[in-house]
Amino acid sequence: ATSPRRGQLLTALEGEGAAADPSSDEAALLREARHDYDRATRLPRSLVEEISRVTTLSQQAWVEARKTSRFSQFLPWLEKVVSLKRQEAEAIGYDGGVPYDALLDAYEPGAKTADVSAVFTPLRNELVELVSRIQGSSVRPDIDILTRRYPVDAQREFSIDAARQIGFSFDEGRLDIAAHPFCSGFGPGDCRLTTRFDEHHFPGAFFGTLHEAGHGIYEQGLDREQYGTPLGDSTSLGIHESQSRMWENLVGRSRAFWQRFYGPAQQAFSEALGEVEFDEFYSAVNDVRPSFIRVEADEVTYNLHIMLRFELEQALVAGDLQPADLPGVWNETFARYFDLTPPDDAQGCLQDIHWSAGLIGYFPTYALGNMYASQFFGAARIALGDLDAQFAEGEFQPLKQWLNENIHRHGRRYRAADLVKRVSGADLSHQPLMSHLRGKFEELYRL
Ligand code: ZN
Repeated sequence: ATSPRRGQLLTALEGEGAAADPSSDEAALLREARHDYDRATRLPRSLVEEISRVTTLSQQAWVEARKTSRFSQFLPWLEKVVSLKRQEAEAIGYDGGVPYDALLDAYEPGAKTADVSAVFTPLRNELVELVSRIQGSSVRPDIDILTRRYPVDAQREFSIDAARQIGFSFDEGRLDIAAHPFCSGFGPGDCRLTTRFDEHHFPGAFFGTLHEAGHGIYEQGLDREQYGTPLGDSTSLGIHESQSRMWENLVGRSRAFWQRFYGPAQQAFSEALGEVEFDEFYSAVNDVRPSFIRVEADEVTYNLHIMLRFELEQALVAGDLQPADLPGVWNETFARYFDLTPPDDAQGCLQDIHWSAGLIGYFPTYALGNMYASQFFGAARIALGDLDAQFAEGEFQPLKQWLNENIHRHGRRYRAADLVKRVSGADLSHQPLMSHLRGKFEELYRL
């Protein structure tokens, strides 16, 4: 990746005008290969080694600090990581005086902090307002029905069946059990998903499987002729996340989806759901309530967890926030957005692995994923007609094929912002996501 020969070849190809037509595959290939080469060669070897060494130790310190909720144990490591990531940003370079741009670019190539802020700020303001209206509603879904007994074998079968129906190919992939759910592509024809089952928590494994299957469908939809080149690779973490969130939330938590799946669910889990009405179940899987832990958050409040991290990590990188002040500022900001104060740092600023692993600039891709998903879904509705009627009939192929055609097969041909514009005809906006959330939750909570 850093060989001088590669640099010479890139320069020669650029000089030959191989990319004269900016819309050609050659131009996209060169642009992305150049991007990766520049990022890789701008980092001095000593810095790469130091980041690797420090983040390995720092993750171990974080595990211990989180166990006992002692931020002071993690603080010296966080200071080191932030300082190294700042050096990384300096080495890579950035325009406009925003070092965070250089870090964000590793996960969301081409994205700029200012553009992300421009869509996150209105999203945050409108979410805070929506969450507080939901909090004020007298409707309280009965979520206890989701922690009744759901035998693990039945959960596995039911989850695999749903993943297959939405279009994940088990001829070219499989589902296994792991402590942390993930999706990993090992090349064309081999995509591995993992999940974890809890006999007394239905949504964890089920929606987790839909989520990972969404990632898997993207991997399986990449152009295998282009395997090994940027055109055969996913374009950004945010776009990857848009695919998982679309199947998990926009499809999997929709009324139409459960019109198809609730009957079979009642059969598979007759002890837990035999007597439960459709609406009761549908409300329970769409329960919204502010909570401390990001990975357990619902579809509405999830994004606020990201807004908080995005602001704080920018401030850390800019030097406006000292690592020692993180717990206090975390809790204050959390209280402003959620009207709750974390009881300890394990449920506050120590909950995520990302910063200890040097993954600064990663968090915004989760909320970008939710926004991209809603914007794509709106375009799919226009192109495919009544998606709800299709889902209720168990027809997921039209949506899956539309995603293959419009998103997956392009690989890195289009950067995320360009892809959104190309697919939806408009720049990224918070509005499609907000109108989805308002439409769904105003009805559910009778607002
Ligand atoms: Zn994901």
